[in-house]
Amino acid sequence: MKLSLFPYQLEFRYPFRIAHGVRTHTDVVYVKLEHDGCTAWGEATLPPYLLETQQSVISFLTDFSKSVSGNSVDEWFDRLRKESENLSAKAALDMALWGLKAQLQNKSIEELLGIKSTLFPLATYTIGVCSLPEMKLKIDDAIGYGFEMFKIKLNGETDEDMINNFRNICEKPYAVDVNQGWKDASMFINKMEWLKEKGCVLIEQPLPTDFLLPRSRVNGSYDLPVYADESCQRLGDIEKLRDNFDGVNIKLMKCGGITEAFQMIRKARELEMKVLIGCMSESSVGCSAASHLTPLADYADLDGPYLISNNPFEGMQVVNGRIQVRPVTKNSLNLQ
Ligand code: MG
Repeated sequence: MKLSLFPYQLEFRYPFRIAHGVRTHTDVVYVKLEHDGCTAWGEATLPPYLLETQQSVISFLTDFSKSVSGNSVDEWFDRLRKESENLSAKAALDMALWGLKAQLQNKSIEELLGIKSTLFPLATYTIGVCSLPEMKLKIDDAIGYGFEMFKIKLNGETDEDMINNFRNICEKPYAVDVNQGWKDASMFINKMEWLKEKGCVLIEQPLPTDFLLPRSRVNGSYDLPVYADESCQRLGDIEKLRDNFDGVNIKLMKCGGITEAFQMIRKARELEMKVLIGCMSESSVGCSAASHLTPLADYADLDGPYLISNNPFEGMQVVNGRIQVRPVTKNSLNLQ
C-alpha cells in the first residue's frame, strides 16, 4: 500500500458568508492510495471551525501508515477503526480505502455496502448571505449547472431580505440553514411560521447546539421539518436528538468517513428520522465519496465542486436536479 499526501487550497467562486463569518478559501489535503495496480483518492477538507490543519492531517496519516502492520485494505480498515480523533484525516483515508476496495473487487461502493436503490435525491445549491445582485448571479450559475433546489443561509439579521429576494427571483424549492444564528425559542417559532408561508421546505440547525428546541417531536411535529447539523456530529449523537429534531445532516468530515456515515444513516432510519447528506464544501473527491450514500438520503447537499473555482478533480455531478455518481478523475493541470 503506497500513501501519498498533497496539501492544496480550494478557492471559492464567491466569498462564502454564513451566520458566524466569511470564508474565501478552504485548506484541504488529498490522499492518494495505490495498491495492486489500483489508485484511489481521498480528501480531508478543513474549514477553520474543525480545528484540524493540513499539518495535523499530514502528521496523523504519516504516523498512521507507519503503524499499520499489514498491507491489505481490510488490515488498514481494521487499524483505522481504532482511531477516534482526527476525523477529517480519518475520513480522507476511509474514503480512499472504500474506493480501493471497490476497484480491487471490481464492484461499486454501493454494491459493497448493499445499497440497492438507484433513486437519487434532489441536490441543493447553497446561497450564502449576500446582496440581491450576487444572489441573482448565484441562482443563474446553479440553474446552469442543473440544480433544481436551493439551500439559503440565514443569520437571524437579514433573513427577511434573503428570503424575499430569493422569492422575487426564483420559484424553485428551498431549505434554509441558520447555522445556530437564531437566539431563542420564540424567534425560532416566529421565523418558522413565516418561512412556512414563504414556501420553505426544511430548516437546518436554527439554534445553538446547547439549546433544546422548544417542542418535542413526539408531542406533535413542527410546522416544518427541522434538521440537526452542528448538533449531530457522530453516530452516538443521533439517539439523543430523536425527540427534538426531525432529521440529521450527516457529513463525512464530521464522522470520519463513509464507514460511520453509513452506520449513522441506518441509525437515523431506525429512529424514523430524515437524512440529509452534506459536505464542508469539499471538491469532487470528497463529494463523490459522499454521493455513493445519497440513494439512502432524503436530500443531498453536495454542492462543493460547484462552489469552488480550482477543483483539481472531476466526479459526481448534478443532472436534472439530482445527484449522479461518476468516477473520480484527476485534472493533471491543477495538482502536482
Ligand atoms: Mg449546515
